[in-house]
Amino acid sequence: MENGFDSEHHHQLVCKRIGMLVTIKLLESLQNDFRVLVIGAGGLGCELLKDLALSGFGLIHVIDMDTIDVSNLNRQFLFRIQDVGKPKAEVAAARVMQRVKGVTVVPHFCRIEEKDVSFYQDFQIIVLGLDSIEARSYINSVVCGFLVYEEDGSPDMTTIKPLVDGGTEGFRGHARVIYPGLTPCFHCSLWLFPPQVTFPLCTLAETPRSPAHCIEYAHLIQWGQERQGETFDADNPEHMKWIYDQALKRGAQFNISGITYSLTQGVVKNIVPAIASTNAIVAATCALEILKIATMFSTGMDVYMQYTGTEGIYMRTVPHDKDPNCTMCSAGVPVDVDNTITLQKFIDQLLKDSRFKLKLSKPSVSYHGTNLYMQAPPVLEEMTRPNLQLPLLGLMDGNTSGVLNINDRRLTGVLRVRVTFKEGPDSVDMDTVGGV
Ligand SMILES: [Zn+2]
Repeated sequence: MENGFDSEHHHQLVCKRIGMLVTIKLLESLQNDFRVLVIGAGGLGCELLKDLALSGFGLIHVIDMDTIDVSNLNRQFLFRIQDVGKPKAEVAAARVMQRVKGVTVVPHFCRIEEKDVSFYQDFQIIVLGLDSIEARSYINSVVCGFLVYEEDGSPDMTTIKPLVDGGTEGFRGHARVIYPGLTPCFHCSLWLFPPQVTFPLCTLAETPRSPAHCIEYAHLIQWGQERQGETFDADNPEHMKWIYDQALKRGAQFNISGITYSLTQGVVKNIVPAIASTNAIVAATCALEILKIATMFSTGMDVYMQYTGTEGIYMRTVPHDKDPNCTMCSAGVPVDVDNTITLQKFIDQLLKDSRFKLKLSKPSVSYHGTNLYMQAPPVLEEMTRPNLQLPLLGLMDGNTSGVLNINDRRLTGVLRVRVTFKEGPDSVDMDTVGGV
């Protein structure tokens, strides 16, 4: 029917118009309303800044403490030979603004710890292009510190700050999205970062199976046996050549091929080559996720993307679970206490607890915004000191369970502890305690 066709056509036209309007509004909002923080202006950072600027983000901040080294130039494409020695953040910001019209990139040439927590609070989205686990862990604790839980244990959505994390090592990379309180935080899945690869000495000595085993055998065992008294120097070519020759002999003995001089250098010095394409793929994935978060035009990844380019191309996204007892993002790490426990004894118990031992030195405790005990400043310490001898149950208004916030110099964020009182051997009458 002619009429039907016309109205169908008209409908399509209207949809197209609305679509264009929405697109224009989205673009305006990206340009004017969003503040994105890029942490790191290295291999991933250069890619991220370029991707975000070209995606339409109008205000981007970048923080990096490093200066440009000549060895960066093969992949950190925002830098030129004449930039060597200059701060990465400043050069990267200037170069992106030169190339992309209308974008403002604000550089911060400093350590991430130098910035106040309120600095991080100011951004809607934070993206990490870092190579250190410590730095990731630090930012993770900062954003988890912003998270507030409602009384019913659900996260207060307005306090969730999304974190997008990218990482590369040679041909491998990952990207993930962290909504603290909703998806696993960095600490929930620390197991993803196994300690540096070391080989058991017995494998090296008895059953070598790879070129690296042969090299490590020469490096860790043969050197000490055959060149006693000489300190191995990885920068001495003669030393390296010796390791290489020994590894070759050992390889021949066990029928292992593939030992080269450059592999020997790589294994001994623990060098992982930086691959520009890995950075590009991981940064693009992160930028896409940021775009999804900002515009909500699609659901985000769930939750962890792995990429391997060693042999062929392999990419997959796997969901991970939150650690219900995570000290950073959970509603509280469960701690059972005797219902007669005093605040002082409770603090002692925390300090002895293997889960917190390394994280706490002098904890301060608060409950529902009330300071139960503060280690500093001296005035507050003195004011709250009498509480130390009081029963914790009474200080928590007689509630048989509840969440305490623990602050400590060693913590970056807050540690939430969910206390449940258990009847101890010499428990007290609950009514009496409630009345304290
Ligand atoms: Zn967590």
